[in-house]
This record gives sequence, C-alpha cells and structure tokens, in this order.
Amino acid sequence: MSTVRVAINGYGTIGKRVADAVDAQDDMEVVGVTKTGPSFGCEMAVRKNFDIYCTSDDPDMIASFESSPFKCKGGLKDLLSISDVVIDCSPGKMGAENLGKYQDAGVKSIFQGGEKHSLTGLSYTSCANHSENYGAETTRVVSCNTTGLSRTLVPLYEHCGSLKVECTMIRRAADPGDSKKGPINAIKPVLKVPSHHGPDVMTVKPEIEINSLAVAVPTTIMHVHAIIADLPEGHGLSTESVIEMWKSSPRVIVMNGEGNRITTTAEVMEMARDIGRKWGDLHEIFVWEDGVRLMGNRLYYFQAIHQESDVIPENIDCVRALMEIEKNWQKSVKKTDDAISSYYNI
Ligand code: NAD
Repeated sequence: MSTVRVAINGYGTIGKRVADAVDAQDDMEVVGVTKTGPSFGCEMAVRKNFDIYCTSDDPDMIASFESSPFKCKGGLKDLLSISDVVIDCSPGKMGAENLGKYQDAGVKSIFQGGEKHSLTGLSYTSCANHSENYGAETTRVVSCNTTGLSRTLVPLYEHCGSLKVECTMIRRAADPGDSKKGPINAIKPVLKVPSHHGPDVMTVKPEIEINSLAVAVPTTIMHVHAIIADLPEGHGLSTESVIEMWKSSPRVIVMNGEGNRITTTAEVMEMARDIGRKWGDLHEIFVWEDGVRLMGNRLYYFQAIHQESDVIPENIDCVRALMEIEKNWQKSVKKTDDAISSYYNI
C-alpha cells in the first residue's frame, strides 16, 4: 500500500512535533508544512527536508518569503492538492475557517484540542474511541488534559463498567516558548465552573461521568491533575491492582516518587531530558505510584501531563483511523511508539 500523504497546517509547538512523528512512520509521509511567513521556525523545516507552504493563498503573504532564505512552494491550496489528510495545528479557534478549505479540497482533516467538539461532531483519543473514528472525514484529537485523563480513566472504566470522577487541573500558565501568557506571580482559578476539561472526556467516552475545576499556576513545564474517582460496588480492585492496571496500559508511566526522588514535575521533565526525548518531551502520562490510594470505593491519585507532547502520538493513530489503515488501536499505538523510539534512537 502507498504511504498516506500528510499535510501539517501550522508548524508551531504541536505542528513541528507532529511532523517529526509522521516522518518517523513507514506508512505515512509529510508532504509539506505551513508557515504564515518566513520566521525562525522555517529553519527546522529546512533541516528536516520538509517542503514549506504558506498558511494562506494570498499572493502577498506567499511573496513575503521571496526576500528570505526559505523557499515557499505555494499556498495552502497547493499543499492540499497533493495531500490525503491534513493535520490542522493552527492556533485554537481557527478551525472553523480552515475546515471549509479542507472540505473544498476533498482532504480528510484532524483538528486539535483548541477547537470545540461541535466543529467536527467527533473527537479522538487512541484508547477511548479509535474504532468510532475509523473512516471518518474529520475529527478532533482532544486536548492534552483530556488525553491525559482518558489514558488512566478509560482502563478503569473498562474494568468497572461505570465511573464517577471529580478532578482539579493544576495547569501550566504558558508553554516554555510563549512570552505572551501568564500568570507569572499569581494562582488563577478558572471561574467558569465546572471547567471544560473534565466534561471534554465525555466527547470520547460519554459513559464516564466527570466534572472538573481548573487553576493556572506560574509554571511552563507540565499540568498536574488531582483526581478522585468513585468506583461502583463490587469493583474488585485494590490500590496495588489499580497501579498494575496502569503499568500495563500504553503511554502511562507509573513511578514511585519518594523512592526515585522524582516528587515534582521538574524532576519528571528532567527524567524526560535524561532519557533523550527530543525537546525533553514526555508522550506518556506520569502517575506517582505513592500518590495512588483506593479507600473503599473511592480512588485518589495525581498525574502529570507534558502538555506539549502527550497528544503527538495520538495524531498518528488518528491518521490510521481516518485513513482506515489499522482498526486495532493497540496495534496502532505500538507501531506509532516503536517508530518514534527508533527515529530518535531511544
Ligand atoms: P502555536 O501558536 O505554537 O502554533 C500555531 C502555528 O500555527 C504557528 O506556527 C502559527 O504561525 C500558525 N498559524 C497561524 N495562523 C494560522 C492559520 N490561519 N492556519 C494555519 N496555521 C496558522 O500553537 P500550538 O500550541 O501548537 O497549538 C496548536 C493547537 O494545538 C491548538 O488547537 C492548541 O489548543 C492545541 N494544543 C496545544 C497544546 C500546547 O500545550 N501547546 C497541547 C495540546 C493541544
């Protein structure tokens, strides 16, 4: 079978990572990435041998590349004309404008968590609803927080058959490369209660009853979730068996915090850098083993989310679902993760 031709529209924090992850796979290829104009981000596309296109078809915007060292091969329409699927990594809330362009070009599309579920009417997480997305025209890979919640809650739900969850998202204020956002010296509660994060899980697993609060804190490296899950009577689980369940779940790392001296997000990220992950990324959700406690039917735990990277491998599995390459989500996850590991030699 020929490789799937993937366009990346928006080559920023998520786009550059998704492009590398696509490039790592043997069943898909990057046919081009887009930039609004010549900027330092183009340099990496050149080094990776990715063709650069403009996010717009406006001749003036395309012409803005002419006086730069970066060759622009055309506008978005040109890129879409040679693509099977586009992964939209534009800043949140631009999706509505872009969806029509993808539909006009007859190209399948994948949006990110900055867009609302209503844009596509379908959302995606590898472990929750891969098969429901099989053959779809357009979908949305849910946000980093929703992806993280799904990774630990879906296996619990699969075991228990029902689940009621309350959680608090302790959110990073900005990404490390972002100089515009805050707070830098405050703790900022999200006053829209409940926050959208928990209920967003229900776009991929409606059976999980979940609500959330959120608060932004002055850090750039990770989100932390403080989660309370009520399991049904007769769940048959213990603290130890929940930990074992997550240890055998894909893209979840469970480690003893005190024993490994990895008690904060700073150390989790240092570990990601030590093991050679590009950009210091951690695609897995990190659960502190000694922070898990099941008391009767109530489960307490903390987990940490590397916001810039947990959704990256999900986008790859999502391409396989939309393009009907692999129906079994576990097989796709394994293929994706093995290819990324050997690409980075880790
Ligand atoms: P970003 O600002 O880092 O990158 C966006 C890129 O899109 C930039 O290169 C920008 O120049 C480009 N762009 C601008 N206008 C465009 C247009 N009209 N069409 C296409 N591209 C355009 O943003 P990001 O953090 O990569 O976020 C992208 C999406 O991923 C958003 O929906 C966001 O909510 C979601 N997301 C972000 C994170 C995160 O932590 N950064 C995590 C998960 C999901």
